[in-house]
Amino acid sequence: YAKIAGGRAMQFFEPAMQTVITARATLETELHTAMAANQFVLHYQPQVTDGGGLVGAEVLVRWQHPHRGMVPPAGFIEVAEETGLIVPIGLWVLEQACIQLERWSHHPRRSNLQIAVNVSARQFRSDDFADQVRDVLIRTGADPSKLKLELTESLLQDKVTETIRKMKSLAAIGIQFSMDDFGTGFSSLSYMTQLPLHQVKIDKSFVQGIGIDRKVELIIQTIIGMARSLDLAIVAEGVETEQQLAFLEKHGCTLYQGYLFGKPVALAEFDSELNAETTG
Ligand code: C2E
Ligand code: MG
Ligand code: MG
Ligand code: MG
Repeated sequence: YAKIAGGRAMQFFEPAMQTVITARATLETELHTAMAANQFVLHYQPQVTDGGGLVGAEVLVRWQHPHRGMVPPAGFIEVAEETGLIVPIGLWVLEQACIQLERWSHHPRRSNLQIAVNVSARQFRSDDFADQVRDVLIRTGADPSKLKLELTESLLQDKVTETIRKMKSLAAIGIQFSMDDFGTGFSSLSYMTQLPLHQVKIDKSFVQGIGIDRKVELIIQTIIGMARSLDLAIVAEGVETEQQLAFLEKHGCTLYQGYLFGKPVALAEFDSELNAETTG
């Protein structure tokens, strides 16, 4: 019996497993090609104040795949992280963001704009991360005080001493830090006082619960209260409706990002929208 059952299990298991392994290997090879062939593109999403004033943008990577079209980060970031490819990809993203910051610095109406860049755990943990960031800033001539690095709450809870040391060395040259996906981890107030943070971003999963789930609304109020008592700016991400905006404003949120204000778009489109605003 055992033998028959085992045999059947193997027959069922092997091809499925093989498919997963092959798909992964293919994706890894394709990601190497993508890097070499310049297939990654960046989209810019506006970050605004209560009054709708533009503060800057978050850059979000996409993969312009030759056959599959525009692949969102969910389709490749995890494998890029596991294979370590996220390190060169992340460096490229950072460099593009800094090139753009330097360009904006020459425009009278854009010189105050900031750019937020997502940094993955693997990238942040690499030994020369701080040096890499400093090199990119020097190479591009970008103003460090216009650069914001978004680190996830889960990343920040790991290897605390090393994390704080690395953040402080970069904060010392003016770089700002934002805690991404705030509320999805377990940060305590006392722990957060140790981090050289400038802002927190309320995860969109909470924002989506506004007007639907009273408990989620209470969590948001707690998150905002925590951030305010630490003197941190608060960005709500994934704001899609006026109702969500009204709730967030009422409870002391100060900055917003979401489809209500603008979807992530290619740089050319982002820039032309800026042009339309400043001339029209
Ligand atoms: P994130 O950093 O939390 O970025 C916010 C995500 O929410 C983005 O998804 C954005 O397009 C989406 N979003 C913004 N406003 C709205 C809204 O109103 N409604 C909805 N439904 N979604 C909204 P995206 O671009 O798919 O990126 C997903 C995640 O991939 C990011 O989450 C970030 O963790 C990661 N990621 C993106 N670019 C990079 C990168 O350059 N490097 C690294 N390491 N990770 C990146
Ligand atoms: Mg982010
Ligand atoms: Mg986020
Ligand atoms: Mg998120």
